[in-house]
Amino acid sequence: MMKAAISKPGTAKNNKTGDWRTFRPNVDNQKCIKCGTCQRFCPEGVMGKIGEYPEVDFDYCKGCGICANECPKKAITMSEDK
Ligand code: SF4
Ligand code: SF4
Repeated sequence: MMKAAISKPGTAKNNKTGDWRTFRPNVDNQKCIKCGTCQRFCPEGVMGKIGEYPEVDFDYCKGCGICANECPKKAITMSEDK
């Protein structure tokens, strides 16, 4: 049987999507209430464990800003990634 050379979905983990980033999220732990909303909404799943302060894996964060938009406490701000 021939093996199909089709890439699997979710292969972003194999490509460092952080290279695409223009903006980066900054979490203010003083404002964060550990609600987990940002972690649930992050399309890359790179914000650490729900119930803990968000820890962004910048190798894979693509800077989409969804986390900042969804945070009910406005604890995440986006800044230019230099
Ligand atoms: S900017 Fe986008 S990819 Fe990066 S941590 Fe926030 S939601 Fe996830
Ligand atoms: S959405 Fe905001 S308040 Fe909730 S865990 Fe994320 S940074 Fe903290």
